[in-house]
Amino acid sequence: MKVVRLYMNNRLRNFNYIIGCEQTRQAIALDPLDGDAVLNAAAQEGWQIKLIINTHEHHDHIEGNPAVQAATGAPIWASEYAKGKIPNVARGLIANEVIELGSMKFKVLPTPGHTPVHVCLLTLNEEVPILFSGDTLFNACAGNCFNGGDVDEMFDSFERELAPLPDNTILYPGHDYMKTNLAFALTWEPNNSEALFWQGEVGGFQPDEMPYMTLGQERSYNPFLRLQSPELVEQITQKGEGGDSKRSVFKTLRKFRDQW
Ligand SMILES: [Zn+2]
Repeated sequence: MKVVRLYMNNRLRNFNYIIGCEQTRQAIALDPLDGDAVLNAAAQEGWQIKLIINTHEHHDHIEGNPAVQAATGAPIWASEYAKGKIPNVARGLIANEVIELGSMKFKVLPTPGHTPVHVCLLTLNEEVPILFSGDTLFNACAGNCFNGGDVDEMFDSFERELAPLPDNTILYPGHDYMKTNLAFALTWEPNNSEALFWQGEVGGFQPDEMPYMTLGQERSYNPFLRLQSPELVEQITQKGEGGDSKRSVFKTLRKFRDQW
């Protein structure tokens, strides 16, 4: 399996992914925004796009569907709950079902929160697991919940689907927000050496140069994965925002990130 990451250079800083099987040259277009860019990249690899998969229904994750479908005939797959929200969904994906294409295998993780229909994809037969996290988990942050989402569901998705994943899982998020998110993370844990290190490391990077981080690394600086960090809980308690449970810390962080 090989993944091509395309930075969209738009205001929302989307990443598009084309996931190809190197044996059969079949590929998946994940969350296509710029259909032509996705088609060109697939052609450059000598891949045929056989599937379009959307993590959720927001326009910046589906806008390229028609162009990719017109050129390739690939069907559109998304959560079973996305039918009627995303045009032309041919197959509704069910929680924990396994998708196969060529030698590639993915598990569908149901991760409502950013929107009620959001799913993530986790590779099953790669040596190192890869998580395509859409707008659920970003580098150094969680997705927002103010555009049809629910922060309690987001917390539950983190606990149920993301917490059990191993540290070596590599994260492929839907947007390039790492620099901004690290700055936000540091407002809560100003002494977090990993956050400081990575802020310095990526400071001068272009979006195309941004590193692929592991969940283990994320767990060292992403406040939404550090809900019991003493420094973080202390700050939230000082603000009178209730640091008494992981859920309340998560919800407080999300609220402050919305206003930040
Ligand atoms: Zn979204």
